[in-house]
Amino acid sequence: MKTPCQHLVVVLGDQLDRDASAFDGFDPARDLVWMCEAVEESTHVWSSQQRIVMFLSAMRHFAAALEADGVPLHYETLREGSLADALREAIAQAKPQRVRLTQPGDWRVLQALRQAAGTTPLDVLEDRHFLCSAARFAAHARGRRQLRMEYFYREMRREHGVLMDGDQPCGGTWNFDADNRASFGPNGPGFLPPPTRFDPDASTQAVIALVQARFAGHPGQAAPFGWPVTRAQALEALRAFVDERLEHFGRWQDAMWTGEPWLYHAHLSAALNLKLLNPREVIAAAEAAWRSGRVPLSSAEGFIRQILGWREYVRGIYWLRMPDCAEDNALAARHDLPAWYWNGDTPMRCLADAIDQTLRHGYAHHIQRLMVTGLYALLHGVRPQQVHAWYLSVYVDAVEWVELPNTLGMSQFADGGLLASKPYIATGRYIERMSDHCRACRFDPGERVGERACPFTTLYWDFLLRHETRFASHPRLAAQVKNLARLDAAQRDAIRARARAVREGRFA
Ligand SMILES: Cc1cc2nc3c(=O)[nH]c(=O)nc-3n(C[C@H](O)[C@H](O)[C@H](O)COP(=O)(O)OP(=O)(O)OC[C@H]3O[C@@H](n4cnc5c(N)ncnc54)[C@H](O)[C@@H]3O)c2cc1C
Ligand code: SF4
Repeated sequence: MKTPCQHLVVVLGDQLDRDASAFDGFDPARDLVWMCEAVEESTHVWSSQQRIVMFLSAMRHFAAALEADGVPLHYETLREGSLADALREAIAQAKPQRVRLTQPGDWRVLQALRQAAGTTPLDVLEDRHFLCSAARFAAHARGRRQLRMEYFYREMRREHGVLMDGDQPCGGTWNFDADNRASFGPNGPGFLPPPTRFDPDASTQAVIALVQARFAGHPGQAAPFGWPVTRAQALEALRAFVDERLEHFGRWQDAMWTGEPWLYHAHLSAALNLKLLNPREVIAAAEAAWRSGRVPLSSAEGFIRQILGWREYVRGIYWLRMPDCAEDNALAARHDLPAWYWNGDTPMRCLADAIDQTLRHGYAHHIQRLMVTGLYALLHGVRPQQVHAWYLSVYVDAVEWVELPNTLGMSQFADGGLLASKPYIATGRYIERMSDHCRACRFDPGERVGERACPFTTLYWDFLLRHETRFASHPRLAAQVKNLARLDAAQRDAIRARARAVREGRFA
């Protein structure tokens, strides 16, 4: 290790970007990059094996690229203990004048590293990866009683000139969401373009072996592994998505099909979140595909809305509300997460399929997360913090700034409606409409009581009963609550009894 150094530049596992602000003015003669594979980052939640491989492999490839370019680097391979302890030691050895760090994605990590820096000055620099800074978002939020993604998204479109015709949205409307809710129909998706997967090189293979040995008890599997772990691979994955799948992305964005994890989605979230890709280049590629006539506007807009809208919006909310929001539990949910979330061993076909692919690939698309695993946890009444720990553990793209608001806010309504205008609740009929799962399931989405009752349907009615008073005059939920009036006392009791049985895993 170069000692003493001028700047110790800390690069975290989700900051794999040579253009990050921590590298500004980097002087190879006097500065040193520091990276560390701290075990605690894989154990503070029970990180899945795919997720650990994703982070460690991408970090090692980034480090190799730095070294190839002659950038002085101190890289600590898997080391027991915390990142903060490791940084403390590194500071003691390198004796830097200052520590420099791009703002971390986790509030927890930021606090820990601030403490670790001790008396050495720590520069926490703006994360330029994002189009909207935390301060810009705070300005947007100031004075608003409600935050809604749609208004924020329009501001971002205008501010960054994305899909704009002068001051007006291209195509005359801001949002093509209504065109983006098709299911595949009874015959399924038909031919699907294969996902872009990458054979693990020697470095990734070594990480896979390491994870299989050191994290054997962690959920899921380390191999096969095919995610992009370098910038070149991430760019290739982006190109393939735009050329092969973006055209149909919008239409089938919400559809699901048994045994088909990839469909027309981008599979770019991990590459984006680890900063192998910049959201500007992703947005520009989608807009260019529309402008050159290769994809419909509804697909390009639907995709861009996820990145320029939702992704920036949830990050804004995270930094606006942390740390208080981590404890949100507006619906006073108190049940434990069912153990089968960790192995997929449930007779509910939709959940078994979503969890199986999650553990196999570290991936499920948005509707699977929101309207299958998330919906079930919401209806079951699982403590939001346990749901949060699961989502943060199992996905290759899971980083707290994006996972937490999606889980606590959008999926579990734990923030009481700040992020989403209503709880996303539905009976099993929604899943029946959007997938083929119910065909092979022993339950019937049309039944709410009895042994064949779909647990989603039972728990939907139980949810309405439990929260009847709260949502009776809710502008977007009152109509659903009104349906309770049709139920007499005996029917209500039967729903409650069946809901209890479902929660206890007594299906038969
Ligand atoms: C409960 C829950 C937890 C989630 N946890 C994460 C997480 O840990 N990390 C994560 O990146 N996304 C998370 N999401 C959002 C979304 O499900 C994933 O971004 C998406 O499924 C990733 O797959 P994809 O790249 O194929 O996305 P696509 O469906 O192809 O979408 C394109 C891109 O848009 C962005 N995006 C889409 N939806 C969202 C959203 N709601 N919030 C932020 N960005 C979005 C992603 O960067 C994604 O790559 C979560 C959603 C829910 C409901
Ligand atoms: S019947 Fe219910 S549990 Fe079974 S697949 Fe359909 S929605 Fe899921």
